[in-house]
Amino acid sequence: MKIGVFALQGAFIEHINALKRLGADCVEIRNSDDIIGVDRLVLPGGESTVQGKLLHKTGLFEKTKDLIDQGMPTLATCAGLILLASSLSNDENTYLSTLPMTVKRNAFGRQLGSYEERGKVLGFEDFPMVFIRAPYIENIGDGVERIAESKGHIVGVKYKSQIALSFHPELTDDLRLHEYFLSI
Ligand code: GLN
Repeated sequence: MKIGVFALQGAFIEHINALKRLGADCVEIRNSDDIIGVDRLVLPGGESTVQGKLLHKTGLFEKTKDLIDQGMPTLATCAGLILLASSLSNDENTYLSTLPMTVKRNAFGRQLGSYEERGKVLGFEDFPMVFIRAPYIENIGDGVERIAESKGHIVGVKYKSQIALSFHPELTDDLRLHEYFLSI
């Protein structure tokens, strides 16, 4: 099984390290050839506006959207979650739009821009959640399951084979979510 980790911008190395610790075979996706033959996709955190532009510039946009729409298992964190959203409440742009939800960027404000909390995620107890200028999910569409909450907001969802998180499991030693992702 080959995991394609988008390496256009942001915190992709941390995902690769986590997946390698679980024995997975990873490829860095930087252009439209790199995505050929992958079995799963990871969209890392970083800056969604930059990543969105690079998806178009590299010619990866259409292929990526098609693969996710067709059911390729995808793990998206933070900026990656923003790229999957069908709508953004405080930004006129949308990107891959494969997951029916409304997302607010940089939603926790300046004071709470970055924080850590532990909670239940996808049934995993006491999961460490690291938020960095994180978005949260304001609304979810039909078929979208909420899998994590923080400060009264939805911070994780699952929709078909897509898992989208506001926080960064790849920045912790807890590999339970990555392990789950490899199992779907
Ligand atoms: N605030 C960033 C954005 O809007 C996301 C932050 C992150 O990925 N850590 O793209």
